Amino acid sequence: MCAYNRSDKEQEYFAKQEAEKLKAAADKHARETAEAEKKRLQELHYMKCPKCGMDMQEIEFRRVKIDKCFSCGGVYFDDGELEQIIAEEGEDSFFGRITSIFK
Ligand SMILES: [Zn+2]
Repeated sequence: MCAYNRSDKEQEYFAKQEAEKLKAAADKHARETAEAEKKRLQELHYMKCPKCGMDMQEIEFRRVKIDKCFSCGGVYFDDGELEQIIAEEGEDSFFGRITSIFK
């Protein structure tokens, strides 16, 4: 005779189903928490200098708006902005040569 009767197997099935439901809810909560934390950090750090944390100002250079920190002097290029400047100045320019290192 089998050690488990039908009702034990049913209980195991439902317990497993319940555990899967709880795991899915926990995973969803973790994803939502991670998204909320990412959004919170984006709002906290938006236009803050990555080096000193002070506010950055947008200045226009060669029709490209770059972010400048007047506290520590740092300059930040958003994705694609350096490439825009290189497109105007050429691959052999200072910026073009720097960028070629990372290709
Ligand atoms: Zn700074």
